[in-house]
Amino acid sequence: MSIILNFLKKIVKSAGGKPIPEAPQVRIYPRSEHTISRAQISDHALKVLYRLQKSGYEAYLVGGCVRDLLLGREPKDFDVVTNAHPEQIKGVFRNCRLIGRRFRLAHVHFGNEVIEVATFRGAVDEQNDEQVTNDEGRLLRDNVYGTIEQDVWRRDFTVNALYYNIKDFSVVDYTGGMDDHKSATLRLIGDPNTRFREDPVRMLRAVRFAVKLGFNLHPDCQNAMHDAADLLYSIPSARLYDEVLKLFLSGYALQTFEMLRHYGLFQVLFPDTEKSLAVEEGGFPKLLLIKALENSDNRIAEGRTVTPYFLLAAFLWEPVRMQTRLNCERGMDDYNAFQGAASEILSRQVKSTAIPRHISIAMREVWSLQPKFEQRVGPRPARLLTHPRFRAAYDFLLIRSETGNVEPDLAAWWGKFQLADEEAQKMMTQPSRNLKNSRTRRRRSSKNKNSGPAQNPSI
Ligand code: ATP
Ligand code: MG
Repeated sequence: MSIILNFLKKIVKSAGGKPIPEAPQVRIYPRSEHTISRAQISDHALKVLYRLQKSGYEAYLVGGCVRDLLLGREPKDFDVVTNAHPEQIKGVFRNCRLIGRRFRLAHVHFGNEVIEVATFRGAVDEQNDEQVTNDEGRLLRDNVYGTIEQDVWRRDFTVNALYYNIKDFSVVDYTGGMDDHKSATLRLIGDPNTRFREDPVRMLRAVRFAVKLGFNLHPDCQNAMHDAADLLYSIPSARLYDEVLKLFLSGYALQTFEMLRHYGLFQVLFPDTEKSLAVEEGGFPKLLLIKALENSDNRIAEGRTVTPYFLLAAFLWEPVRMQTRLNCERGMDDYNAFQGAASEILSRQVKSTAIPRHISIAMREVWSLQPKFEQRVGPRPARLLTHPRFRAAYDFLLIRSETGNVEPDLAAWWGKFQLADEEAQKMMTQPSRNLKNSRTRRRRSSKNKNSGPAQNPSI
């Protein structure tokens, strides 16, 4: 049994400005009643916790690391929270840098590892310049410090609001997070409608955590999420891009995609892709996008790396093809139709999610190399092998071939060609061997209006 401390019922203000009653009790789970052991915690995080404690401050692990430790998973990073103010934290650690103006934090550096140390945030005070909210109640600046009892209500989900206390190794639970943990429930703290209005990105976080942890969204949370997708339009595109990376590069991209679509959130992030899905569904045996999501999940499961530009190139491939066709119908030549389509789709996309330039350049390269695979005669194939994006472009060709987007023998030919020795490569690229093939293909592709840029040998 956990020790139950009764707190005087007091009122604190939520971030939305509405009074919410602080839980009348906090539950403290002593070391014997939870599974978190110090052996699972990074040495650097422990160092930070102990040092703060020795200097007379409170120090806790909080958020995703506590949640993940309770599930026996290795946390992505360790977040520390304390009652020491940023300047005081800086006074305790030599290897410390203060960051952020809107949300001031300390980063304590140990080689490659950074331990983030935040100060407890206080209740919203509309008179205070250190806190700025917009009309929806979204906090734009938050530098009012407080106590753990105030900090807890500002967090998003109950399972993200558990504190591991370095003083006695207990877990402190104000919101019923431990029970929700046991029943695998993702529940927002406070009124879901208010909490989503305050920060609509919480809807994306809800999807991300539900999928990653295998938790169920609490029905109240689900109800609030239906029809609330439009709130996301107010979020800066740079923040949405960061969230997109977390959503799709953590190993559960396919499920995430399906859940985002279920709640109408995907169309806010990728409007052109959503439109192309409506057109293409039922068309190809398997959508190229789905295949790319599956591939990227498999790669992560095998411990291999995934690059954002590859997945994003797959997300926008259909929109680019559709726009290319439109441009061709308007009388543009194939090359310009494709280049124009790529520019237009990318410039529309960055309004939703601010794709950095080096990523969009790489996406364009993957697309632009696709037609080059059609050329199998002469010195060009060997030159293509040395292109820095050959590998990614070839992987892209593979998923196109697996989804009926391009002739399977083309991908097979390139698979063989890149492994062949120089002599064999020369044989493979002799005009006599390929001439007939490429002529047939050229004739077929010029007849096929749906072929898009990739099947046109001229680009
Ligand atoms: P991850 O495993 O992805 O790091 P996390 O829960 O640690 O998951 P972070 O973005 O690192 O996510 O945030 C740390 C903690 O800060 C969260 O657990 C939560 O308590 C709080 N938090 C983060 N973002 C929000 C938000 N938008 N609204 C309310 N609380 C938030
Ligand atoms: Mg975290």
